[in-house]
Amino acid sequence: MLAAAQLRRTASRPRREIAVGAYVAAVVGATALAIVYAFAGPMADWGRVAPDWALIAAMAALIILFENQRIDLFGHSGQTLTFVPIFALALLAGPGVATLIAVPAMLAAGVGARLVWYKIAFNACVIPLSSAIGALVFYALAGGPTTEHLLLHLPLVLIAAETAFVLNTGLLAVAVGLSTGRSPLAVWSEKYRWLAPHYAALGLTGYAAAISYIELGPAGMAIFATPVGVVWIAMAQYTSRARDGVERLQTANRALSRNEERFRSLVQNAPGFIAVLNEDGTLQYLSTPGVGASADAWPREMPRDFLSLVRSQDQAEVTSVLADVLATPEVERTVELQLSHGGGKSRHYSAIVKNLLADEAVHGIVVNARDVTERKTLEDQLRHQAFHDELTGLPNRALFHDRLEQALVGAARRACHVAVLLIDLDRFKVINDSLGHAIGDELLVSAAQRLRSHLRESDTVARLGGDEFAVMIEDVASRSDAEAAAMRVLAAFEERLSFGGHQAVITASVGLAVSEPGELDAADLMRRADVAVFRAKEEGRARLAVYDEAVDASSTRRFEMESELRRAVDRDELRLLYQPEIDLRSGLVVGFEALVRWEHPERGLVPPQEFIPLAEETGEIIRIGHWVLLEACRQAQAWRLTLPELGRFTVAVNLSAKEFLEPDLVWRVAQTLRDTGLDASMLRIEITETVVMRDTHVARKVFFELKGLGVEIAIDDFGTGYSSLNYLRRLPADVLKVDRSFVTEVDHDEREAAIVRAVVHVAQALDMHVVAEGIERLEQSVVLAEIGCETAQGYYFSRPQDVATIERFVRERQGPSARAA
Ligand code: C2E
Ligand code: MG
Ligand code: MG
Repeated sequence: MLAAAQLRRTASRPRREIAVGAYVAAVVGATALAIVYAFAGPMADWGRVAPDWALIAAMAALIILFENQRIDLFGHSGQTLTFVPIFALALLAGPGVATLIAVPAMLAAGVGARLVWYKIAFNACVIPLSSAIGALVFYALAGGPTTEHLLLHLPLVLIAAETAFVLNTGLLAVAVGLSTGRSPLAVWSEKYRWLAPHYAALGLTGYAAAISYIELGPAGMAIFATPVGVVWIAMAQYTSRARDGVERLQTANRALSRNEERFRSLVQNAPGFIAVLNEDGTLQYLSTPGVGASADAWPREMPRDFLSLVRSQDQAEVTSVLADVLATPEVERTVELQLSHGGGKSRHYSAIVKNLLADEAVHGIVVNARDVTERKTLEDQLRHQAFHDELTGLPNRALFHDRLEQALVGAARRACHVAVLLIDLDRFKVINDSLGHAIGDELLVSAAQRLRSHLRESDTVARLGGDEFAVMIEDVASRSDAEAAAMRVLAAFEERLSFGGHQAVITASVGLAVSEPGELDAADLMRRADVAVFRAKEEGRARLAVYDEAVDASSTRRFEMESELRRAVDRDELRLLYQPEIDLRSGLVVGFEALVRWEHPERGLVPPQEFIPLAEETGEIIRIGHWVLLEACRQAQAWRLTLPELGRFTVAVNLSAKEFLEPDLVWRVAQTLRDTGLDASMLRIEITETVVMRDTHVARKVFFELKGLGVEIAIDDFGTGYSSLNYLRRLPADVLKVDRSFVTEVDHDEREAAIVRAVVHVAQALDMHVVAEGIERLEQSVVLAEIGCETAQGYYFSRPQDVATIERFVRERQGPSARAA
């Protein structure tokens, strides 16, 4: 597996590598040969001392130590002292022993240093080989180390050391040359030449070590080794510290340049700019946006003053922010500004402004601005969409309201009026429904244009929705000015409008409301214009209606009442009061009229005149009538048990016109009688003369049907309408209720008395019973009794009262004790 992998790698490598391989193999082979030769050859006995294990171990340890702890020497880093122990060992124990010890020691050092295998092998051989050969040279020249001819020996030591130097560096230069393709000589001259004095020094050191050992034994070696070791350790420490420093410096440098690069790319690529200002706002530095739209028309030359770049509208804000950061250097302020790029172009920026005047490196106010033009444009679009009508492009209701509020504030200051016109297209719905929505839309667009073209630029025209437009006119001097403007709008719609291939006159109903100076309620002004436009439509469209407070007050109240009345029945706010009818001869109670009241939560008891007509109009009267009928019948039936002293009595229920004409009236009356169990003859239905006479045919029919049930019928407020006696004759009514207006003066106005007398006679002739209403004094009742009127009702006897009061009244009036008295 391994061999195969290596083979593949070898095959893929260029020739140069093969050459290096062969060279390494040759050096290794030569070393092996040298060892064999050293032991077997003529110099087998070279060496001054027999190697003992302590020496061998010490030298091997030094080799490993020196090899792994390189030092800076003579200005060159990464140098080893390995030559010293090997050379010393070779001088002491002979080159053969030295090589044999040095090679494995070097191998161990190389493995420890985790080098590539062939480098380990090469290194392990080169120094021992060259050191051994250097020692051989010395032996050959001097016959071995001795103190005797020390002075003579020193030059020989230098020759031996330099031989080792030439061999060692030469072998290395060839290796480097082979692997890099350069000339070995050039490599040597560049990288190794300077090592000559190094080897000289190391050679002398090695020689000194050997001499020390020979002369003084291991102790001498130790004494010699001490200064060398101290120097070596010092240098090693210095080297490693220096290297650390260099490394740190390099790392810092790398980080710095990385940061710088990153910063530069940020400044250049970010859409935006960085400006550094002096205290007075003059520009110290202004970056150029490298890319993006901000680069467009960027000032080619840096202006002197930063503010001159800022759009005039933003200058005040920027100035105040600059003043802020100058005052408090700790704060960082953000400001949105627009910068003119020249050529009419400008872009939006969001800038962070910071006072770095105290910072030594910067010494300025830094404006770090991000281009936010795209975001701004989007925001503007969204804002426009939120406040404008998509179809016509006009402001929508929200914006109109907003502008109106502002205008009212302004008008209050200037003491003038604001006019609001509401415009409703009269035939829009018809056109929209008949020609389709697309044409309808075109009509709206064309109407919007028409409006715009007939108004001043300063007037706000808005589409509130559907076919409803609004116009706001500011600074109106008087009401008549506003009316004139409204008339212009009206006139604008008298001309034909073109829309979707059609042409037509589309008139408009216009409502006008003008604010009072100082008035600030926009919503109320709008509401008033709304009331006015409603009136314009009611009055026949294609016209102007000006808001009128008096009309509005009643219509507002009416509107409120309407909705409240709609809830009255459900909320159980209706009450029934009863007014007794008295038999004028006996003075006994013979019946009651049920009279409705509305107990309004705020207004208290509301009389029927105030809500019955409204209920008639809205149709609510039907539900009210149902309740009254049921309640009156239920109460009458209850009284039959609780007020036995009453004997036979009737309960009268009033019906309005709408109730009377309700198709299921008769059915309902029958149903109510059945439900309450009340005898039909005890119920009386009262209908005013006016209602009866409005449609005598229907009245006759209903009368007959009700009579069929056995119910009594009364013609109420008799004398106020224009009854034809002929008709009256044909109606199956039982009672005539003489209106109060005929009885007020009956006791001292002879003519009034004559009329009542006539009515009584007619009634008698038609076989009808007469009830007089509104008796307030004893005298009236006396006269009426004389005239022949049998029954009367009025405040003189009792006001309309609630059930409890009525019950007390009846008991007091005709209970057992009352009768006894
Ligand atoms: P009406 O049916 O002619 O009722 C008589 C009205 O005269 C009552 O007024 C009563 O309070 C008032 N009245 C009675 N005696 C005197 C008196 O001595 N002096 C004066 N000044 N007034 C007297 P009220 O209750 O306000 O009812 C007014 C009208 O409202 C009734 O006239 C009736 O037409 C209508 N109404 C009352 N209740 C109902 C109801 O439940 N349904 C319908 N559809 N109409 C009702
Ligand atoms: Mg009545
Ligand atoms: Mg009446």
